[in-house]
Amino acid sequence: MIGAGAVGSAVATLLADQGRDVLLAGPALATDASRVAAGMIAPLSEAALDPASRDAASVLSAGALAWPAFAERFGIPLRACGGLLLSPSPQVGAVQPGEQVSLDFAQSLAPFLQRWDGSIRWLPDERAVDAEAALRRLGAQFTRRGGGRIDATLHPAADGTWQYAGGRIVARQTVIAMGQGSETLAGVAAELAVLTPIRGQILRTVPGVVPPGAPFVRGPGAYVAPQADGAVMIGATMEADIRSLTPSHETSQALMAAAATFAPGLETAGMTVRVGLRASTPDALPLVGPSRRAGLLLATGLRRNGWLLAPLVAGLIADYLAGKDPGPLARRLDPQRFERL
Ligand SMILES: Cc1cc2nc3c(=O)[nH]c(=O)nc-3n(C[C@H](O)[C@H](O)[C@H](O)COP(=O)(O)OP(=O)(O)OC[C@H]3O[C@@H](n4cnc5c(N)ncnc54)[C@H](O)[C@@H]3O)c2cc1C
Repeated sequence: MIGAGAVGSAVATLLADQGRDVLLAGPALATDASRVAAGMIAPLSEAALDPASRDAASVLSAGALAWPAFAERFGIPLRACGGLLLSPSPQVGAVQPGEQVSLDFAQSLAPFLQRWDGSIRWLPDERAVDAEAALRRLGAQFTRRGGGRIDATLHPAADGTWQYAGGRIVARQTVIAMGQGSETLAGVAAELAVLTPIRGQILRTVPGVVPPGAPFVRGPGAYVAPQADGAVMIGATMEADIRSLTPSHETSQALMAAAATFAPGLETAGMTVRVGLRASTPDALPLVGPSRRAGLLLATGLRRNGWLLAPLVAGLIADYLAGKDPGPLARRLDPQRFERL
């Protein structure tokens, strides 16, 4: 398994749990998209807010459905926090998910939501994980199940092996789960050439700013996503084709201004800024399954839903490796689908 982000860690842990001999290789970098993520498991609000994901609703819902059993199996706290979706005005004719609620009701759940004149929809089934804690947990569960770990960057060698500073790896099957950066292996797996980066900047407050368990609130231009310790994450930008990991002061100001339209009283002292790079495909769905190159499987291109989809992707890769039918969604995520267009 190359890449120890949400996707590589989820796949590796599930495979180790099934008794497979798995080596998980990759450095743990603070800038991995998986570490900076808000951790929302939010299929309905994602399909509603992200124009590119509108046709992906069934995939996103399947991702959310895979979470409870996965979280229970590996002891990952999955918060049933729900989500509130704000839009400027009741959109006549537009199909909006969830139930329309009053500001009073929304404030009883999310006291930091201080004002909103437009429509508020309540999505009680949306959930969340704390990304960094979930990664740590997956890493521990993987090791407990006998998985091997190498903290190194791998490079392909001409003889089909994988090289790193400490040596060489020969694997019967390799899964590429390198997130943004996977496209550097397009010479090995041509399907990876379709990937493009989307930069995301996000802010994190100090702990204790909101009540633990509060729902996330998604408004125009920003969301406020509470974490288990009562910190909130205010995010996130979607900046296509930008690879810079340097935080931008102007971008932080714009995120705070957007959040202040509905949560003006949030305590921002001590806030930190994080940047991560997402990998995206032309149809906003990931590449999951066998490459044309024998012995290679791909689990990458998760765009803005890597946490939401990680257990689903893990199950699909496990099915492929076991020679089982991966089910009806597999064709939509087939890494070779762009060759058919
Ligand atoms: C600001 C922001 C907020 C987000 N919020 C959410 C959210 O609320 N919910 C959600 O579902 N998703 C969210 N996402 C998206 C989510 O974070 C990504 O889709 C997900 O993290 C992708 O996981 P990954 O494992 O594919 O990639 P990554 O997390 O990028 O991990 C890839 C790993 O591969 C390693 N790697 C790369 N090259 C090599 C190599 N040659 N050898 C070894 N290892 C290598 C990297 O070091 C890295 O550890 C957010 C993303 C951002 C940026």
